[in-house]
Amino acid sequence: MNRKQSDKKLSKPELLAPAGDLARAKVAINYGADAVYLGGMSFSLRSHASNFTMDDIREVCAYAKEHGANIHVTVNIIPHNEDFEGLEEYLKELEAAGVTAIITASVSIMALAKRVAPKLEVHCSTQMSITNSMAAKMMVEENHVDRVVLARECSMDEVCAITKECPVETEAFIHGGMCVNISGRCTLSNRMTLRDANRGGCAQSCRWQYHLYDGETELSTEENLFTLGSKDMMAGRQIKELMEANVSSLKIEGRMKSEYYVASVVSGYRHLIDELYECDGEMSDERMAYHLNEINKGENREVCPGFYPERAGKDSIIFHEYSNNSVNHDFLGTVVDYDATTKIAHVQVRNVIMKDEKIEALMPGKDNATFAISWIKDKNGFEMEKANKPMEIVSMEIPFEVNEKDILRKWRE
Ligand code: SF4
Repeated sequence: MNRKQSDKKLSKPELLAPAGDLARAKVAINYGADAVYLGGMSFSLRSHASNFTMDDIREVCAYAKEHGANIHVTVNIIPHNEDFEGLEEYLKELEAAGVTAIITASVSIMALAKRVAPKLEVHCSTQMSITNSMAAKMMVEENHVDRVVLARECSMDEVCAITKECPVETEAFIHGGMCVNISGRCTLSNRMTLRDANRGGCAQSCRWQYHLYDGETELSTEENLFTLGSKDMMAGRQIKELMEANVSSLKIEGRMKSEYYVASVVSGYRHLIDELYECDGEMSDERMAYHLNEINKGENREVCPGFYPERAGKDSIIFHEYSNNSVNHDFLGTVVDYDATTKIAHVQVRNVIMKDEKIEALMPGKDNATFAISWIKDKNGFEMEKANKPMEIVSMEIPFEVNEKDILRKWRE
């Protein structure tokens, strides 16, 4: 759907979020995703991620419909002859379940889907590395795709130019993991682990630590081994340009990421896109800094703007050990229920929660709010100094209204 409105400079794109299971898909929708992409048990990359059964897909489609969202399913293996068995039935089942679109990198799967499940939109996957207008047009004219997902390796000028000339919707990446070898065109994982990156098995060998030699001389040390993985992408500052360019969908990467990551990042971009749209791009530096900070609360890796505005350089590569030092918030728990009269909430514990500490509630569709924990009680009503058993249900007073599934977190010291 093209949401461009004539009285605004900016269009309002779809916010597309990843989900590795039903719980994360519902979280993404609750926190403001317009659409969620996920993988089924078959024919999808990330085959080792927790993928969806057909019953799960039916359930998530019903949930999405209730909330005005769409479901896209990845059918993005690079198929060999033996991979086609059962595919026709699978596509028909996806169509019947209410899936909006499949995402595929195979022209044979595109043709099959158009023939046997014509209600499914076909989105050509980023695996096709579409980096120019001619390729985008060919995808539409020859393969009848309904959306072109642009390669992560497009610069901002390329995204704008291709979107202008492409006869159908375009989708661009805004956040998440990058691949140093052009989105999976890589045999590192195959060679080292016999796990094929193009059939869902990437072992992320680029992120391993290596001893680096120049001839016989080792350049690395035990404390400083070499790695060549990329920093994650974070394109908060570039959202305005993508909206100006009328890109139809902005995609967050990360089907293997946690519920907390999905909630934080989706919520951050939801608020940023909505506010940019409302002010038609006239956002103050202060408000932009606020939104970037909110998005970063969910991130746990070093970030860069990917290939925006121009092709990624060596600043985008991590040459040293990966760390989680950039995690700036801890996910403490989720709200199970809340009594508005007594202001008492039951909370499922995910991390240590201390009495008297100041924490923040992340609530779909609302601004975050903070409060100090005046007391914590266990299920028998005994007061505790801290709650530290994962998944235990404790109670506490929260001075403002929260809802089931709202997330509690705190700034990491
Ligand atoms: S091993 Fe690294 S570079 Fe290769 S496909 Fe996987 S993520 Fe990409």
